[in-house]
Amino acid sequence: MVGGGQLARMTHQAAISLGQSLRVLSESPDDSAALVAADVRIGTHTDLAALREFAKGCEALTFDHEHVPTAHIEALEAEGVKVFPGSKALVFAQDKGLMRERLTSAPTPRWRRVTDVSDISDFAAETGWPVIAKATRGGYDGKGVWVLDDAAAAAELVATGTPLIVEEKVRLKRELAALVARSPFGQVAAYPVVETVQKDGICVEVLAPAPGLPEDLAVRAQQLAIDLANELGVVGLLAVELFETDEGIFVNELAMRPHNSGHWTIEGARTSQFEQHLRAVLDYPMGETSLTAPAVVMANVLGGEPGGISIDERLHHLFAEDPGARVHLYGKQVRPGRKIGHVTVLGDDMTKVRARAARAARWLQEGK
Ligand code: ADP
Repeated sequence: MVGGGQLARMTHQAAISLGQSLRVLSESPDDSAALVAADVRIGTHTDLAALREFAKGCEALTFDHEHVPTAHIEALEAEGVKVFPGSKALVFAQDKGLMRERLTSAPTPRWRRVTDVSDISDFAAETGWPVIAKATRGGYDGKGVWVLDDAAAAAELVATGTPLIVEEKVRLKRELAALVARSPFGQVAAYPVVETVQKDGICVEVLAPAPGLPEDLAVRAQQLAIDLANELGVVGLLAVELFETDEGIFVNELAMRPHNSGHWTIEGARTSQFEQHLRAVLDYPMGETSLTAPAVVMANVLGGEPGGISIDERLHHLFAEDPGARVHLYGKQVRPGRKIGHVTVLGDDMTKVRARAARAARWLQEGK
């Protein structure tokens, strides 16, 4: 797996049970996955020579992020490396402009490519301000997304030279995610559709299944994700981030790797997304995706302000208060606002489960 973040760390955990060894290409020995995997190579994903050396002897090459240059992936494929997802599919998770151009059959917010500031002003003349501008490549956790209130803000952003698209600010009822996995053989498995709750562009909570989602909408969202996986030839996981609006569901973006909206599956589904991703890239049959409890909530733990009681003490108190809370810490240096772990709580009643998960995450975050 290229990238040594928490997704690689949790994939490594799943690989152990399958008797597989996950080799990790990590930028630093202190990265989340590099701290725990046995086979770690230090190098950067933008270095083709490092990628080539890394891929030698691997059964399959896959990713913990989408930042490997497309040309490098194509070069590896041309040399016979089995890359999953392949460059032809992955490019649609890497580049928001190409993705929007490709998704002609799926509903998306109105959008336009930006080459000049007038592209934004003309677009806003049709939709009204504010509009949303997005970097076509390299964004994550809301970095690379800007709300533009007027032409002056647009001019300032365009002057930075970042390649952009602009899109209408959708009136969201809420955000959903549909997660599927597809193997080279073509088998596809779909997880229950979840609700994702964002704060400042960062996912803070995931509710599984999405509360009150009508069955027909849920099935439509799953079918949309399955169709996209098939159409794009995805191998591995495909997370489709969706907006629920009064006019139906819109596709926001695609990720082709384990995804924050699927962390709940470790305890909340019969097969975790990390195992499912490995099964898919190794062309094993897919695992069962059903829920293990009627209500599952995952809450991210973000780094809090320095000081206060130690993480060790926080765990001690949390486990004393809520023995059912399941904790995953990523071994990352604490910085305010950085994702350093998550908690998952299972139960019968979504309201109660949600309150427990929020309390557990806040406790780990703030120590109070
Ligand atoms: P990233 O790649 O950083 O995850 P996203 O495209 O998912 O960026 O946008 C981050 C968040 O910004 C979304 O989860 C949503 O809350 C908000 N957002 C993005 N696009 C729109 C839009 N067109 N209308 C309203 N809100 C949006």
